[in-house]
Amino acid sequence: MNYGVKNYPISKLIADFDGTVTQKDTISPLVLTAAENRSNQDQFLTQWEQVVQWYVSQQESNVKKWLSAPESANHLIDFLESFKPIEEESLRRVTQQQFLRGLTKHDLKQLGRNALKREGVANMLKGLQASAVEIEILSANWSKTLIQSAMDGLCDQIRTNHLVFDDFGKSTGEIRQNVTSAQDKLSFFEKYRSKTGKTLYIGDSITDFLAILSADIGVLIGDNYVTRQVIDYFEIPTVSITSNEKYNPEIHRPGIILLVDSWLDLENFLIQNRDIMMENRPCHLPSF
Ligand SMILES: [Mg+2]
Repeated sequence: MNYGVKNYPISKLIADFDGTVTQKDTISPLVLTAAENRSNQDQFLTQWEQVVQWYVSQQESNVKKWLSAPESANHLIDFLESFKPIEEESLRRVTQQQFLRGLTKHDLKQLGRNALKREGVANMLKGLQASAVEIEILSANWSKTLIQSAMDGLCDQIRTNHLVFDDFGKSTGEIRQNVTSAQDKLSFFEKYRSKTGKTLYIGDSITDFLAILSADIGVLIGDNYVTRQVIDYFEIPTVSITSNEKYNPEIHRPGIILLVDSWLDLENFLIQNRDIMMENRPCHLPSF
């Protein structure tokens, strides 16, 4: 018997990064680090503040517009799709104004190392790795290097966007885009979910909703206000996972959002009681 190996009911975990693995978004520290290299720091930070304010107000008014319409008139997919022009325009402003110019890989690694993780995430990922569960990060972050450094070997694969670097090893301010919308996350999720066993997806924002709803076990972590508004408006079925609840495929089905407060509760929820696992094993083991 191997006591280091736990029984998880999944063969793959795909996780969002910002706000899911980390406690906070890492975008702001990224731009503040880029600001340190500028001679006109005050102007740079004022312009950045304007982009952030524009983005937040656009997001808020879009949510308000959609969620004040009669519910039957709208579909979740169309609602999520409606954020795409806002994301595209904000990325255009970020690249055009070169907010991310001048960052080195060293800067990005340091930002990754300094990113505070949610409690229990490292332990759970180590437990999954010891039990041969594949782990992937699927993120709309702008830097793979930052995520790689923050994960420090705790995942097998990272799918995200990339900063473009010049010949001197400095970022040019351009972003090579792969994952920017809820639909992108769903497409990547569908492509890379486990072919052999169950896949769990965990995220913290509405950009994660389509992947969460498509997963065998779809988890929303944290208490983001907009996510709860959207769940209520579209009447998406949810189950709140408390610390003493165990995973039951009859109840915790695809299409249901499982609400968790922490990775500690999620790990406790997933780990199967060894006696139950033994009961579920095939009666006739292959003989050699
Ligand atoms: Mg997130």
